[in-house]
Amino acid sequence: MKARFLLLAALLSASASAYTVKKGDTLYSLARASGVSVDELLRLNGLSSPELRVGQIIRLPGETAPSAPKPAAPPAPAVKLPTVATSAHVLNLPGVTITAPKSLRMGDGFVLRLSGERAGETTVRFPSEVGEDVRQPNEQLRPLGAAGEYVVPGRVVLGKETPVVYEVRLGDSVVKGQIPVRSLGQPTQHLNLPPSVSKVLQDPERAAEDAAVEQAYNRRTPQAWTKPFAAPLANVKRVSSGFGQPRTYVKGGKVAYHYGTDYPAPVGTPILAVNDGTVVMAGKYPVRGGLVVIDHGAGVVSLYFHQSKVVVTAGQQVTRGQKVGEVGTTGLSAGPHLHLEIRVRGEATVPAGWMGRLWP
Ligand SMILES: [Zn+2]
Repeated sequence: MKARFLLLAALLSASASAYTVKKGDTLYSLARASGVSVDELLRLNGLSSPELRVGQIIRLPGETAPSAPKPAAPPAPAVKLPTVATSAHVLNLPGVTITAPKSLRMGDGFVLRLSGERAGETTVRFPSEVGEDVRQPNEQLRPLGAAGEYVVPGRVVLGKETPVVYEVRLGDSVVKGQIPVRSLGQPTQHLNLPPSVSKVLQDPERAAEDAAVEQAYNRRTPQAWTKPFAAPLANVKRVSSGFGQPRTYVKGGKVAYHYGTDYPAPVGTPILAVNDGTVVMAGKYPVRGGLVVIDHGAGVVSLYFHQSKVVVTAGQQVTRGQKVGEVGTTGLSAGPHLHLEIRVRGEATVPAGWMGRLWP
């Protein structure tokens, strides 16, 4: 398993070979044939989109032609009883190779990559997902994708510094791995908001607002996007108030996390959908203010807070870069800015991890 990983690393650092795209090729099929991920090919070629055109020259890792057979993976016995692999990046089941990130930080979105002829038959769970803030813990997940390049999205819940444990099942065989988690190391910020601002936290409509957002988090629709995620404003000059910041809003209040990233911008600045999807909420709410929620499918939802104007309606299909509203300072907000959240199965992930990529 380790040898295979090292071989892959060696291939990646070796000189790349040029390949001319033929009819029917996709970045997925080329990645599969080369034994690397789509993200690796995007990086190697400096591409921002996975779309290819016939005749395009693509750099492939190493000297391996895309049609050449992959080096045989060493045989790995199926493990009947779950065993925890301490620092593995690659685990195997018969006919399936599982690649996981080496380490994660709180709030990271990530994917487990599954390849091999039986990858599509697996199911995945994250047994470490427990606690009051985790929605639908231990959900049984089916890999997404096709043509041998499958992924299962995961996320590290803010405030939980314990390793992420994942479990991949194929029939009666199970493998279990774990990924260490680092904290963001941010000291708690005490905002001490004046009553004129914090009064929205007591708004009687707040419960209905939260319930509607929870419903959006519970949606499980097919993946609606095929292109990398894009920035929510045309000219992002700066970002304030970082993601994941622990904070209290009022003196002595409960510690909450900043579940999004704040983009300061003048009132009226167009807000753009970060990717294709369906608008599932669009309106004015006490805390989030002018709000748009887009379901991108695959359990991924983006939220845009504090808008002065919302220009889409619930049920509407939107495409990446489409205007959904305008920057404002409505709801629990101290000045004009966009608060963007990207949630995976209800849990907040760091938006920067998605920008310019298909998956975080
Ligand atoms: Zn914010």
